[in-house]
Amino acid sequence: MFADIIVDITHEKLDRVFCYRIPEQLEGQMKVGTEVVVPFGRGNKETRGYVTGLSEKTDYELSRVKDIIRIADESLAIESRLVALAAWMHDYYGGTMIQALKTVLPIKRKEQPREKRRVRLLLGEEEGKRQLDVYLHKNQKARARLLAALLHQPEQEYDLVTKKLNITLTVIRALEEQGILALESEREFRNPVRRRTGKRQEVQYTEEQRNVIETFWGDYKAGIRRTYLLYGVTGSGKTEVYMEMIHRVLQEGRQAIVLIPEIALTYQTVMRFYGRFGDRVSILNSRLSQGERYDQMERVKAGEVDVMIGPRSALFTPFANLGLIVIDEEHEPTYKSEQVPRYHARETAIKRAEMEGASVMLGSATPSLESFYRCRNKAYTLLELKNRTKSLELPEVYTIDMREELKAGNRSILSDRLKEMTAARLGRGEQTMLFLNRRGYAGFISCRACGYVVKCPHCDVSLSSHRGGRLVCHYCGHEEPSASACPSCGSTFIGGFRAGTQQIEDIVQKAFPQARVLRMDMDTTREKDGHEKILESFADGEADILIGTQMIVKGHDFPNVTLVGILAADMSLYSNDYRAGERTFQLLTQAAGRAGRGSGGGEVVIQTYSPDHYSIRMAAEQNYEGFYEAEMDYRELMGYPPVEQLLAVLMTGQDEQLLEKAAGYLKEYVVRIDRNGRLQVIGPASPYVGKVNDVYRRVLYIKSEEYRLLTEAKNRLEQYIEINRGFQTMRIQFDFNPMNVF
Ligand code: ADP
Ligand code: ZN
Ligand code: ZN
Repeated sequence: MFADIIVDITHEKLDRVFCYRIPEQLEGQMKVGTEVVVPFGRGNKETRGYVTGLSEKTDYELSRVKDIIRIADESLAIESRLVALAAWMHDYYGGTMIQALKTVLPIKRKEQPREKRRVRLLLGEEEGKRQLDVYLHKNQKARARLLAALLHQPEQEYDLVTKKLNITLTVIRALEEQGILALESEREFRNPVRRRTGKRQEVQYTEEQRNVIETFWGDYKAGIRRTYLLYGVTGSGKTEVYMEMIHRVLQEGRQAIVLIPEIALTYQTVMRFYGRFGDRVSILNSRLSQGERYDQMERVKAGEVDVMIGPRSALFTPFANLGLIVIDEEHEPTYKSEQVPRYHARETAIKRAEMEGASVMLGSATPSLESFYRCRNKAYTLLELKNRTKSLELPEVYTIDMREELKAGNRSILSDRLKEMTAARLGRGEQTMLFLNRRGYAGFISCRACGYVVKCPHCDVSLSSHRGGRLVCHYCGHEEPSASACPSCGSTFIGGFRAGTQQIEDIVQKAFPQARVLRMDMDTTREKDGHEKILESFADGEADILIGTQMIVKGHDFPNVTLVGILAADMSLYSNDYRAGERTFQLLTQAAGRAGRGSGGGEVVIQTYSPDHYSIRMAAEQNYEGFYEAEMDYRELMGYPPVEQLLAVLMTGQDEQLLEKAAGYLKEYVVRIDRNGRLQVIGPASPYVGKVNDVYRRVLYIKSEEYRLLTEAKNRLEQYIEINRGFQTMRIQFDFNPMNVF
């Protein structure tokens, strides 16, 4: 037997695994993740490593394969478990083992992390002044300048000193040698928490909250670990419930991970956790460098942290005694990685929890179809919070049919109703949010007179308009010419719907010249913390109207917002993606939930060309279960997830013809290995963006009722691709139940 071993994982670049022979006496004890000691390098130095794979044969020359020396003493190290998790991800999602390990393990890079250096005066004031006189006397101008500055302010940043005072490192070193100053370096933790002063809000749990907590706790104390879905509208007190559960788990000597989408990881949220758990809380975010991330993980391993909050990657925090993983806003598509391995944090969390004896708490006001479906199938346990804690009323929702507006002669993007209602807010000093729904926008074609949308006759998703006037389906490759008149009503008001936040700002400003308008989009949030700053200034009442894309539907509470206008509710509805209806419902429900968080009550205006579509109707009624039933009918009819499982084979390469041919071969191969006819192959199709930087793309979809059959197909395809040289010029990736259209 042979083992693939990854050596000294945390210090080296992770780029390959090494093959070792397993001595007979160790054979039974070897598992993926086992920590071992092996001879390594020229001097055969005893080095620690982890088993990442087992096999019965090796491609290496047998005389060159060394033996594993022994199993390391504390082989239950947390890394062992993370390596085992990586092995599962490798198998479940595809890609290489190295890619999986890199995702899961904290890696120390060879180069030092960026450090902030600081110059600090070591002398007292009197002594310092004496020394200054000496420098002045000797006409040592640079030294005098530096010392004078430090006497004024004893601690200064190295960068400032060198640049502003024009002082070289040589001068600083000279003073350091004289014992006058110290040059210090300090690890710069770019922690989002600047002021750690959160205070615990004392709350009396409502009866619903108590029930949820005790259900969880009853199971937990009885040693039962499950996956729960906490389904409760925004403001129903889910976060309070998570915190109480975490508190109890910590009392048992266990640790907790809280996943929150980065966009919702606001100062307010983080402060609540600090208020409750103090310095035992730590945060990860995408602004941390690899080195900083590594340092955080070291703190965790040293036992300095009990609660880790962060986006997707916080899932791999190396806690030794993990008790609970919370995934807030579990429906968010950002929980799916867009890099290989294309893992879903929800599934991976459930796997990790299973391996380590922890529970998983998913939470959402608009649960993903997958999770609600699994509750119906009893795979997850449903917990519910039906009421808002502060006895706030749900907002009043008005749906405006934009086809009627057009008939009445209003061609503007703002309906008359929305204009009137906004004007009323301005008069009363209340705030308005205008939400431009742009998510998943991919160039669909619709009629502004009757609302007709051009769809694929085979897949029931909308066709995308490609350059050159063709309409294309991304699932099956169906193509048709673009229409110049509506096939349904003959109107010529047919085309792509395009409007940006900038344009809307102009229109709004023109309609309300006195209004103070803020805009939040990719452009205005580019600077550091830009997103947070805009939300803060809006919360502080510095503007009357906030215009934005989906970024504005999360995070802060705005008690003074009494009107939310949703522009182009349809935009996400007809993206060329089978999840379009779900995304639309989620976005509209969340945007609507922003109105009336204060005592004033709230109103919501939904502008749409398809007021009868169930996603829009159910969002207006705030009826999740109604939406769920309708959407499940569609998924069942079309055989889309969660009813059936979908594997996308993504192919990229520079030679378009070769790519097309290769895609054809892969399709044939799948058909050939599918003896029992349990796989369905669709495509190859050319994606919306068929070519990027001269790299062409193709996608093949494989459907099956069983996920396992898809992983098997993936494994067979991986082997097939590896042994056929023809595929070497292209890149092929696998994406299970994809979140985005390739
Ligand atoms: P969610 O996470 O479901 O949006 P939160 O936990 O953030 O809900 O609760 C919404 C607001 O209600 C917060 O300001 C929170 O402090 C408050 N809150 C939660 N539970 C209670 C309670 N039992 N009594 C009073 N206020 C509560
Ligand atoms: Zn029409
Ligand atoms: Zn199609």
